[in-house]
Amino acid sequence: MDTRFCLRAVGKTYRNRRTGRSSVQALAGVELNIRERCVNAIVGRSGAGKSTMARIIMGFEKPDHGLVLYRGRPLAEAPLQIFRRHNQMVFQNPYLAVNPLFTVRQIISEPLRVAGANPAASFEKLTEVLELLELPVEYLERLPHELSGGELQRVALARALVLEPEFLVLDEPFSALDDLTAMRILLQFKKIFLRLRLGILFVSHHPRHVQALADRVAVLEQGKIIGQ
Ligand code: ADP
Repeated sequence: MDTRFCLRAVGKTYRNRRTGRSSVQALAGVELNIRERCVNAIVGRSGAGKSTMARIIMGFEKPDHGLVLYRGRPLAEAPLQIFRRHNQMVFQNPYLAVNPLFTVRQIISEPLRVAGANPAASFEKLTEVLELLELPVEYLERLPHELSGGELQRVALARALVLEPEFLVLDEPFSALDDLTAMRILLQFKKIFLRLRLGILFVSHHPRHVQALADRVAVLEQGKIIGQ
């Protein structure tokens, strides 16, 4: 199976947020291959370094040691606009990740507008992703606070899929939901990932979610991979 991201001896240290002096080693010597077209999971306790790794892979932050390769070449050299189009991120709390004043229609179609897609193509794509996520058309005119957490997380996935990415990073996407909703949405997402043959990096502290969704699992503890 092909490797999409390869982490070689990746390290990242932050200054302590409170004192500003002593430092926190969020990642230390991380070696990891993340494959195309399957669900790669990173599991670990809170504070293990999972979100730091997700942000580094998405290019939001730079490691201070080591190298991240994207399809065999340094990530730092990848053209950013194309990279962002092909690699999208879904965040933990959908209420914080979307503009609360936007309707569902505006939320989902914003990436298309920014990419300069024509209105007819945009409408076609919009209805396609709604159908994929089993969201009723009436929801298009609703505002985020009129949806449940599970519905809004489906809207967030629809938004991430609208530009037809190849790879998604999901940072704890089910942990703001109650257990039953989380499992139901997770299984729906799994079907969609398989159908679209997407590659996924799934970050979670929830072993049951990882077991249900992942094809490959790496365990992170105190910034180090301790098992895969
Ligand atoms: P996880 O996602 O596994 O909960 P994080 O990657 O968020 O872990 O954090 C790993 C460690 O790095 C923690 O000790 C956290 O407090 C610290 N950390 C993360 N981001 C920052 C930051 N921007 N500034 C200072 N410390 C940070």
